[in-house]
Amino acid sequence: MALDALRRIESHSVELPGDAAPADAEAAIEGADRVVIRFPTFKDGRGFSLAALLRRSGFDGELRAAGPLLPDQVDDLLRMGFDAVDIERPDGPARNRNTGGAPYIYQPDPGAVTARPTALQIRALAARKATAEALAKELDGATPEAILIRAAQVYGGRMAMLSSFGAEAALGLALVAEIASDTPILFLDTGMHFPQTLSYRDRLVKHLGLTNLHILKPDEAELRNEDPDNRLYDRDGVACCDLRKVRPLGRALDPFDALITGRKRYHGGQRGDIPAVEFDGERVKINPFAFLSPQDVADRYKALDLPRHPLAEDGYASIGCWPCTAPADEPGSRDGRWAGQDRDECGIFDPARAERAKRAGAVRLI
Ligand code: SF4
Repeated sequence: MALDALRRIESHSVELPGDAAPADAEAAIEGADRVVIRFPTFKDGRGFSLAALLRRSGFDGELRAAGPLLPDQVDDLLRMGFDAVDIERPDGPARNRNTGGAPYIYQPDPGAVTARPTALQIRALAARKATAEALAKELDGATPEAILIRAAQVYGGRMAMLSSFGAEAALGLALVAEIASDTPILFLDTGMHFPQTLSYRDRLVKHLGLTNLHILKPDEAELRNEDPDNRLYDRDGVACCDLRKVRPLGRALDPFDALITGRKRYHGGQRGDIPAVEFDGERVKINPFAFLSPQDVADRYKALDLPRHPLAEDGYASIGCWPCTAPADEPGSRDGRWAGQDRDECGIFDPARAERAKRAGAVRLI
């Protein structure tokens, strides 16, 4: 569309037709602080896209939709970046109204986070859930090797492994190194690890030839604001895990549909009946070691001659951050984690917590 077809209606206000070419529109609105996009009919969706593109290109002035639009479209118009909607009806005056919106949305918020998945995303999540449920049945009771090989067939290129580099981590890392060696390994560096864990991590990376380690750290500004004295674990352990684990992991998960974990049923608690593959409402968790016993783990360490975490000799059966980890009586026990607190998980495997983190802006659903 030629530039002269774009009407400048006030000194800093521009009106564009909904079908304006984005490049022309961007040139025409330069210096404007108010843009009206005119919809010829409520069935013409091009004004939605134009609004989203203008917002993405950096326009931060007032964006107004005008035309014979429907009240049900207001919610979606606002999500596309409009600030105001003038609904012009042939049988009455223009009015602004929001009825609460339609049951489904079709486009994600431009450049922003949405707690509402689009219709396409809902369909994709339903398919992901069905696949995970079918795999869980197929792989019930299977060996770690069989589970990981099958997972690599289904999720290869879209899966990562989460590792604490703790007491039992070497087993999972060795399996991934053997079967799917290019899998990204995610390590949450909370800033609270034992120094022995960090040196063990570096040693294992060399020993197993791992080449795709991703170290995830808490956001610096969030740390300054929410835990300025590094003692949040004392005041509110759940908030501390949220800040140092849940949110950093959430920010890193966008490229992945599936996450390999080292969880085992014998860990007890929420892990007591985990399947080989599970859907948490958003992503798939692959648990290759779900069905092993502590003896199986010990035998595999021996057979593979895997180095042990230096603190294992001191009775640490499950190893996380130093303020929240103590020795335990039994091998494989998680009794030493958050001892004295009413919890046995940090929240990264808790879908409800992940959902809260997402609403807080940490995760963008793809
Ligand atoms: S395990 Fe403890 S120190 Fe580590 S993030 Fe959670 S509360 Fe904080």
